[in-house]
Amino acid sequence: QADMALFQAKGAGRNTLSFFDPEMQVRLQARARLEADLRLALPREELLLHYQPQVACHGEVVGVEALVRWEHPERGRVSPGEFIPLAEENRLIVAIGAWVLESACRQLARWVADPARRHLTLAVNVSPRQFREADFVERVVAILEATRAPAERLKLEVTESLFLEERDEARAKMLRLREHGVRFSLDDFGTGYSSLAYLKRLPLDQLKIDQSFVRDLLDDETSAAIVASIIALAESLELEVVAEGVETEAQRDWLLAHGCTRYQGYLFGRPGPLAELPLPATG
Ligand code: C2E
Ligand code: MG
Ligand code: MG
Ligand code: MG
Repeated sequence: QADMALFQAKGAGRNTLSFFDPEMQVRLQARARLEADLRLALPREELLLHYQPQVACHGEVVGVEALVRWEHPERGRVSPGEFIPLAEENRLIVAIGAWVLESACRQLARWVADPARRHLTLAVNVSPRQFREADFVERVVAILEATRAPAERLKLEVTESLFLEERDEARAKMLRLREHGVRFSLDDFGTGYSSLAYLKRLPLDQLKIDQSFVRDLLDDETSAAIVASIIALAESLELEVVAEGVETEAQRDWLLAHGCTRYQGYLFGRPGPLAELPLPATG
């Protein structure tokens, strides 16, 4: 947006848009190249999933979040913070999201046969663009059927931005998926705009406290107050609450003392390949 403003301001004098601002040109080219590469990432099998544990009070792993990674042939690892927004803009997120979901569900199905893993929930991030596709529900159901993954173990992570527009449509889709057993978690909670009244009407199972509040918890009273309120809200709505971005014992102790019983963060394990999950070896 800032880019566009600059763009138009420069051109405005001559009543034309300049494509020759050199800095802009470089940035647009870099972006176009990244976008072209991203288009090839799926067919070239450059995407992979990492998994991060979610733990309960005594550190026992109760779930896992799947996080997509892009291994670019020249640039190395590109962060999802960089390519997911790009994929959302150009709709590639639909294909990428389907790949993520299918890969995750294949894993989930494998865990059923493994006593050390079959209790785990698997959380998958779903972007608003992907969720708003007309056939999203059918796609998820088809993937569950094809992979034979247990729907009750699948947790879709959605963000508050999903409910800014067409919220009744979003709710209806959630209800349909809920009928199949799929669970929902509200990711990055507290950073977006949520109508609390509407929250009550959504078939949610979990609130995820955004990591920015957890990070500042011990140094900033406002963050501490927000976290305490989210925990209280979750309790009164009968939702599970997970704190994300837990990095220190002190943060975990504070959270535990305030009634939060699920944690995710570097303290318990960084996202990594499946084999690195802190779980007993597969039997
Ligand atoms: P998110 O879903 O909120 O995921 C949590 C992010 O926090 C992850 O970043 C994770 O690596 C990071 N994290 C976990 N514990 C800690 C901690 O203790 N400290 C710090 N500083 N960070 C921690 P990541 O993997 O870079 O992903 C960033 C975002 O990209 C995700 O945020 C999610 O919004 C999006 N994303 C990732 N994978 C997917 C995907 O498959 N589909 C979609 N639509 N979005 C995805
Ligand atoms: Mg997430
Ligand atoms: Mg989050
Ligand atoms: Mg996030």
